[in-house]
Amino acid sequence: MQKHHRTRVLWTLRPGLLPRLLLAVLLGLTAGTTVRAQAPLPVVASFSILGDLVAQVGGERVAVNTLVGPGGDAHVYEPTPADARALSEARLLVTNGLGFEGWMERLVAASGFSGIQVVAAEDVVPRRADSDDPGAHGGDIDPHAWQDPANVALYVERIRAGLTKADPAGAADYRARAEDYAAALARLDADIRAALAEIPPARRQVVTSHDAFGYYADAYAIDFLAPVGVNTEAEASAADMAALIRQIRAESIPAVFVENISDPRLVEQIRRETGARAGGTLYSDALSSQDGPAGTYLDMMRHNLDTLTAALVPAPEAVPEQTPEPAPEPAPEQAQGVSSTTVNQDR
Ligand SMILES: [Zn+2]
Repeated sequence: MQKHHRTRVLWTLRPGLLPRLLLAVLLGLTAGTTVRAQAPLPVVASFSILGDLVAQVGGERVAVNTLVGPGGDAHVYEPTPADARALSEARLLVTNGLGFEGWMERLVAASGFSGIQVVAAEDVVPRRADSDDPGAHGGDIDPHAWQDPANVALYVERIRAGLTKADPAGAADYRARAEDYAAALARLDADIRAALAEIPPARRQVVTSHDAFGYYADAYAIDFLAPVGVNTEAEASAADMAALIRQIRAESIPAVFVENISDPRLVEQIRRETGARAGGTLYSDALSSQDGPAGTYLDMMRHNLDTLTAALVPAPEAVPEQTPEPAPEPAPEQAQGVSSTTVNQDR
């Protein structure tokens, strides 16, 4: 009897308990949702590559506004009133530094921006343009540090610290994402080294539109020559062009590449005058649109690697062409038969 009684008591308690439990669960859910639905941190990035890096580290906690978008040339950008508005509402501004965004200081002043500034390349050892490169003004600081993934690891750490300062509640999230991304950068670096190791030293020379690949050249031992220096504002002089064309002929430089941000005509002219191969498009200072081949930094670097190796790694049949001893056969350019077609098939 007592048992029965107790059961009844419990039943009478439950109707009051359940709504309270439900309420607690609902409140918990609501609290969780509120955290997620909080307005994302407004961040402005100066150009597309930085915009991607901020998005990779920030995830859903940030809303990135990129000023110089895909395909844009940040060297010569002219800010718009919309840029000033975006900046005035931002809590964090991420720039490259190293003199890349010459227009930024005025924009910051005009916008009244009062948030946190991150200079992504702050910890990078700056590279100076080679004075003997045609078109390069010796001593110019080279801003294109992102072309070396080891530098981008430094960028990511700066961005992580800036996001954490602006949004301390996201610290653990930013740290986890930055660590994942650093691991992806290390894999990228290893893959670039492995792929470029297939290119014989004699073929490690290419031509691009402007001197955007100095850090890449230093990291991976490939020579990049360009008619225009580290800043696209400068124009190629006739003397620089002539010197470059002489060098391409004298050193049998195998391929020339156009850049996504530069007018291809200069490189096309060099290609015509030297007979060098058109190697395709390299992404130097900007990403492609999201659905293009270089929608993220990692995709950009892998696209550039594929483009370089496709043009520079000799096809297996062509390897004898690289041996130093004089071959009894005519040079491949003179050979007209089936074998030369086979040699070029994979390029
Ligand atoms: Zn550039």
